[in-house]
Amino acid sequence: MNKIYFDHNATTPILNDVFEAMVPYLKDQWGNPSSIHWAGRGTKKAVEDAREQVCKLLNCAPLELIFTSSGTEGDNHAIKGIAYAKKDKGNHIITTKVEHPAVLNTCKYLQKEGFEVTYLDVDSDGMIDIDALKGAITPKTILITVMYANNETGVIFPVKEIGDIARERGVTFHTDAVQAAGKVPIDTQKLNIDLLTISGHKLYGPKGMGALYAKRGVRLVPLIHGGHHERNRRGGTENVAGIVGMGKAAEIALKDMDKEIEHLKTLRDRLEKGMAGRIPHIKLNGHADRRLPNTSNISFEFVEGESLLLNLDMKGVAASSGSACTSGSLEPSHVLVSMGLSHELSHGSVRFSLGKSNTAEEIDFLLEIMPAIVERMRSMSPLYAGAKS
Ligand SMILES: *Cc1c(COP(=O)(O)O)cnc(C)c1O
Repeated sequence: MNKIYFDHNATTPILNDVFEAMVPYLKDQWGNPSSIHWAGRGTKKAVEDAREQVCKLLNCAPLELIFTSSGTEGDNHAIKGIAYAKKDKGNHIITTKVEHPAVLNTCKYLQKEGFEVTYLDVDSDGMIDIDALKGAITPKTILITVMYANNETGVIFPVKEIGDIARERGVTFHTDAVQAAGKVPIDTQKLNIDLLTISGHKLYGPKGMGALYAKRGVRLVPLIHGGHHERNRRGGTENVAGIVGMGKAAEIALKDMDKEIEHLKTLRDRLEKGMAGRIPHIKLNGHADRRLPNTSNISFEFVEGESLLLNLDMKGVAASSGSACTSGSLEPSHVLVSMGLSHELSHGSVRFSLGKSNTAEEIDFLLEIMPAIVERMRSMSPLYAGAKS
């Protein structure tokens, strides 16, 4: 059976060049980068070279980049770090209802600590209303945290406008760019972004690696207290191999970006046109233009998404429903529900997130097997019988 992977927003396979770059630092190059003797010199240089590679992807300066253990840590560090650093100025945070749990649950935690959080609504396209954001800012607002691109729908948020508003009102702006990094250009010099989170394993790098961009001058309370690592901003001896891998992944992502965007868009459009042509009663979720080139979120009416995924899995096709983090639970996707989808339709939704190695043949295989699977599932739905007649 062929194995086809359409779940790149959950994680990506590590690239061979990334793996090869890491290997020396798992074995022969074991020195502590903080050591001043021969053993540490090579690893210190490797960490700083990788930092420059990641900085090129984000167009920032090396001293603005903190390596972390994950995207989740970066989000926690940014949000708690600002909340604690600015708590004398105010206690209000603005975010959206469709953030990743790494942001949502950090905000919920801070509510227990006495912070107030506004969760902005999204419209049926999954977009926030800029006027609602402006209206939510009060003299007590210290932080706006809005994702760059949504992991479930691929919707890209207006981070330029949000940054401009934040700057004008003197509010710190953090964006979770885990899904955007490597897929679309990110230029921290052109955007008024103070803090930005990325993750290694979403861009063909290693798991357990992330980075946080913190604009020069932005003061953060550390999340992890320890030694003088990362300019006193994150304690802990560096994960040298992970850092090297993330650097390599960032370098490749930047080099291949234009080519990849074309490749992914072509496949995604083939997938969406093919689905629409073959299967009735489906709905594409998320803004038609303002979205990532690789993500297609489709609702299949009268179908239970989890069973659809199991049927696809039996044919070797990996896709996902909602976010990977909520799979296994019966809660419908908080993102789709926020966009106004009924619980039934949210449950009948599948995310196909494409990547580098996917081919037109793989899309065609999906399109070939999909109509029969959906039809068989619908034939068991009493609601569908009613809709057809
Ligand atoms: C995957 C993801 C994260 C978490 O990153 P990890 O490195 O897996 O902790 C955060 N935000 C978004 C939008 C994600 O897709």
